[in-house]
Amino acid sequence: MRKKIIAGNWKMNKTPAQAIELIKELKPLVADARVDVVFAVPAIDIIPAVKETAGSGIDIGAQNMFYMESGAYTGEVSPEMLTDAGVKYVIIGHSERREYFAETDETVNKKVIKAFEHNLIPIVCCGETLEQREQKIAVDWIRKQVKIAFFNVEKEDAKRAVIAYEPIWAIGTGKTATTAQAQEICSKIRECIAEIYDAQTASSIRIQYGGSVNAGNAAELFAQPDIDGGLVGGASLKADFAKIVNYNK
Ligand code: PEP
Repeated sequence: MRKKIIAGNWKMNKTPAQAIELIKELKPLVADARVDVVFAVPAIDIIPAVKETAGSGIDIGAQNMFYMESGAYTGEVSPEMLTDAGVKYVIIGHSERREYFAETDETVNKKVIKAFEHNLIPIVCCGETLEQREQKIAVDWIRKQVKIAFFNVEKEDAKRAVIAYEPIWAIGTGKTATTAQAQEICSKIRECIAEIYDAQTASSIRIQYGGSVNAGNAAELFAQPDIDGGLVGGASLKADFAKIVNYNK
């Protein structure tokens, strides 16, 4: 049985002092969660966030990392820096990184491989634009994203990965995919993993839905057989996040 995982993607929000304040507010509210809880915070907030969440059961995630070990890559953060700071998860290939920072399926693949080399668990993002959905090419597009992201990734690593299905048209727009739409794509992603590896890997991997998840729609989305939790943007910055985390209580 897969344990659900609900991750907050704080994006470029919260200074270190504000991060501590938000964690202090949320920590008691998610203390008895029946799901894995992750706060994916800005790089500058990682160290205070790890300190503030110690012993709470909350894991800290990064929102990105580079695929090289170290060197002349001004502005980048390495996987070793993340593990040394106490990070467990790293979001890879968020659509905002693809759109504003030229992230490609190929760089996503390099980062996924590198994350596993350092024992970090990647939350690999995929998702279609509204245009692609209207053209009925969403499934093909997402299958391509997933196949490239997992190219040369070992089966035992893939089993521990998290995939976040995030339709771009639903991110930060208040437009959530219908439960049926989200379930359909998540099941196609699982099928794709079964084709790449096998049925056992497909049934181990966790697949989140992301895109305007809120306290009102979380329970229905997460009750779907192939949706193993959510990647939550806007609603992760307020107390409402605790309601999402506690959707099954
Ligand atoms: C996200 O950024 O991953 C996201 C899903 O954002 P939102 O919940 O705000 O749509």
